[in-house]
Amino acid sequence: MNISILVFGKNNFIATLPDQIRYPTAFSVEVIDNFNQAVSQIQIRPPDIILVQASLDGSMELCSWLKDQTKLAWIYCILFEDRPQQLTDRNMYGWQREFEMNATALNQGADAYIWHLIEEKTDHSLAELSANHGLILAQLTVGLRKAQKYQDLIRTNDMLSAIALADSLTELNNRRALDWDLPRQIKRARTQKTSLSLIILDVDHFKKVNDTHGHLVGDRILQVLSQRLRHNLRCQDTAFRYGGEEFVILLANTSDEEALVVARRLNRVISDEPFSLSSNKLTINITISLGTACLKAEDDDQGESLLYRADQCLLHAKTAGRNRVISSNYLSHVSHLKAVSS
Ligand code: GH3
Ligand code: MG
Ligand code: MG
Repeated sequence: MNISILVFGKNNFIATLPDQIRYPTAFSVEVIDNFNQAVSQIQIRPPDIILVQASLDGSMELCSWLKDQTKLAWIYCILFEDRPQQLTDRNMYGWQREFEMNATALNQGADAYIWHLIEEKTDHSLAELSANHGLILAQLTVGLRKAQKYQDLIRTNDMLSAIALADSLTELNNRRALDWDLPRQIKRARTQKTSLSLIILDVDHFKKVNDTHGHLVGDRILQVLSQRLRHNLRCQDTAFRYGGEEFVILLANTSDEEALVVARRLNRVISDEPFSLSSNKLTINITISLGTACLKAEDDDQGESLLYRADQCLLHAKTAGRNRVISSNYLSHVSHLKAVSS
């Protein structure tokens, strides 16, 4: 596990820390003594643990800023109390005052509060703080555990999201992923004023493939077909298994005409080369029908009308004889001509 520590402190503070932090081997340590620099560093590369020297300007601001960052909640913040006034108060008023100061520090955003006496000897060298080192290392262990748990959680979360959004047969994104991604892509296209197109495609006479060769062969065909689709898409295109033998492809930054070109290419890469299944020594010809549509200003934010238009084109491709592409541009052109001639 790659653990990183950020020390917000001056050199006199660093010198009082245990060797494990000053000369790290198990984790990376970065030292900053300026509030703005610390904030931007945390935003760019969030550490797992932060050690804060209380007497440094901006220390309490850094703790409270961190507390407000809900997305950085895993960072373990250890506040080292070395402010002369607090240390004097503690000595004068005893454990009750100490308890209050602890509570205040934790309230301000620290996860742990350590009393840190930096005594200066007559020669101005720093006194040994060996008693404190045990406490610091114990707190560091707590922080490391928290970071480890958090990283495990992230890994599990990533894995669960991948499982939830992937189709187990074809390894393409599934319908749930489309429901999530389509409104996002529509929103992005509208804010960035770019075009967005969609292809919906369906395998022709697939029932016959199953009936003739069995479901296992049908499954294998869907897997090979998905691979072919994926290998023939551009990096901005995303393929989804919509259900059964139907697939949807979202084409970011793509006009109606460009979508038609992509759809025609996909049509060819499926029909031109027969599917040979080595395990069964079978060669099967497969074709697909495709419908394309491009996002319009009047389309709804969820993408229902966009999907509907593409689906209408797919239906027309089927009734017109299959193994072809029909675009919504073409359909609206035809219906316009019909309206004019009648
Ligand atoms: P059309 O050209 O009109 O689309 O004809 P079709 O036979 O492809 O359409 P139909 O809707 O009649 O049949 C679809 C078939 O796809 C039936 C179903 O069993 C099969 N199918 C759907 N999902 C899977 C799957 O995961 N594996 C296999 N092997 N078959 C599937
Ligand atoms: Mg079909
Ligand atoms: Mg179908």
